[in-house]
Order: sequence, then C-alpha cells, then structure tokens
Amino acid sequence: MNRIGVLTSGGDSPGMNAGIRAVVRAACHYGMVVHGIRHGYQGLIDGDLVPLGPRDVGSIINRGGTILRTARCKAFYEPEGRRRAAEQLAERGIEGLVVIGGDGSYRGALALEKEHGIKCIGMPGTIDNDIGGTDFTIGFDTALNTALDAIDRLRDTAESHDRLFFVEVMGRRNGFIGMFSAIAGGAEHVLVPENPADIDELVRNLTRAKERGKRSSIVVVAEGGAAGDAATVAKKVAERSDFKDSRVTVIGHLQRGGSPTAYDRILASRLGVRAVQALAEGQSGLMAGVRGPEVVLRPLSDAWEHPSRFDPAYAELMQILAL
Ligand code: ADP
Repeated sequence: MNRIGVLTSGGDSPGMNAGIRAVVRAACHYGMVVHGIRHGYQGLIDGDLVPLGPRDVGSIINRGGTILRTARCKAFYEPEGRRRAAEQLAERGIEGLVVIGGDGSYRGALALEKEHGIKCIGMPGTIDNDIGGTDFTIGFDTALNTALDAIDRLRDTAESHDRLFFVEVMGRRNGFIGMFSAIAGGAEHVLVPENPADIDELVRNLTRAKERGKRSSIVVVAEGGAAGDAATVAKKVAERSDFKDSRVTVIGHLQRGGSPTAYDRILASRLGVRAVQALAEGQSGLMAGVRGPEVVLRPLSDAWEHPSRFDPAYAELMQILAL
C-alpha cells in the first residue's frame, strides 16, 4: 500500500494533532503518500482532501484540537454516503485510512471496509477513556489534568471560606475523569455513573467529615451520574442537610482543549506509528492501543463490545483516603 488517508472524527480531544503528525511522518518514513481528510467523514464524502508532508505537520505536536477539524456526518450512516466516500478515495488511489476517533467512527470505518474494501486502522481519540481495547485513549490524561488543576484552584478558595464545592467534570458514559480527578485532587466524595447515586450516603460522609474537623469539602460529580448534574446534587444535598451554602462549578468544555500532556503526546506518537505500520503490513479492522507497556492491535469492535471500566478498587481507595 502506498497511498493512505488520515482523518479525525466525532468528538475532539487534545493529542489528536500529535497523532496526525505521527501518522504523516511514519507514512513518509515508509515511503507512502498521505492525504489529510478535513472534517471527518463529511470531508471524505465532499472530497476535502489535501496531501500532507512532514513540514505540514511541524509545530502541531503541542497544540490541542485537530488541524484537520472534526465533524459528525449523517450521510456516512447510509450506504450511499459511504459509496461517495469510497469514490473519492478511488479517484486518488487511496487504499487505506487511519481513523482517529471513538467507537462511532470505528463503526463507520468497518462499514466502509466491508462494502468497499478500504483498509482501516483506528486510533482512540476521546477524553472519556471509554474505548475498549486500550488502557488509555488520546486526550484522557490532558482532560484529567485540566480537571485536576480546576479542583486544586477550587480547593484554595473552598478552604479560605470554609465552603463546600460541587465540581462537575465530563463523563457521560463513565467516571474515569471523575474518579481519577477526585483521587488526585483529594476530594471528599465522588459521584460517577458506575456507582449508585446515594445522596444520603453523600450527606453522611460530608457530616462525618465536618465532625472530624474538616471545614471545607470538595465533591466531584461526573456529568452522567445517576443523581444528576452538580447543580442538582447540590440542591438535593441542601434539601436533606445543613449544607445549604455550597458552590457549584462546571468545568465543561475547558476539559476538551489545551496543550496535550507529555503522556498524551507520547501515546499519540506511538499509536500513530503503529497504525501506519499495520496498514503497511496489509492489516485492517484493528485499532492501535496500549495494554500495560505494550502497543497492541485489537479488533475495532472491542471499542464497544468491551468498553473500558475503571477498577472498582479505586472507589474503595477513595473512601479510605477521604478520612
Ligand atoms: P465518536 O467517533 O467520537 O464515537 P460519533 O459516534 O459521533 O463519534 O461518530 C462519528 C461519525 O462516525 C458519525 O457522525 C458518523 O458519520 C460515523 N458513524 C457513527 N456510527 C456509524 C455507523 N453505525 N455506521 C456508519 N457510520 C457511523
């Protein structure tokens, strides 16, 4: 294979640029021509492709977002949309694609492969860390550190005013950012989608913490928690306790942006090179990920068939350390 394409699709995450850079440079290293496809599958259907050389991806390793932009594309759900996409690739002699995105993007890639024989390799790009087949996704570490930085700052003001803070972090489907930022930030309590949302238990914990001499507390709430968002949790707590004067902070999309951490840059670099090698080897339908110290190739379908879960031991750790 000597002509490949690279695109970013679905939700953006910091480190996608480092991934694009790695794909382009590795492809050049192996003597391949690379086209960057703008705006995900929409750009593929519309023919919005540009050849990329090593100089085109200079000075992007440190930038958040994605220079290729990303998009959600309705037409790609339909066979006709994928036929038009395959036509654009055929016109340029492109036989393989690196798809940087989440499980939705992989479903699209598998359909394109099945119907038109385009070889596809995935790279996990999402801040949520919810993709099976890899321990970590590109962007999770950066988002986690952004959330942690916010929690550290809120702790300063919470302490100064003897206040209770509810901090809402991203995580609709899982609580990776919630649980990890709560542990790293020394929060008193965390509510994540994986655990039953027990407001009474939260109130008991906060009351006990106060009795033990804690004058301020931080509660991390993942947006997808069963008890609702941070404002709703604060309201429920106020209704059932003396904690009436709390503050709520929603970190929101700040977690999606910013310069990627060293970990995310290195992860994206490793996975980008492996993805290109896999295409060079003629492989397809796989995602490059990490398991322990190894870079691995796993079926794209692992992304949704075996979604990542954090070890339940983290919840226990949280309880022990919130003393
Ligand atoms: P993510 O890749 O982050 O999970 P989405 O679920 O929004 O994001 O998927 C990104 C894009 O992938 C969609 O807008 C669509 O174009 C394509 N896609 C998602 N699911 C499918 C599917 N089942 N069949 C074909 N294309 C799909």
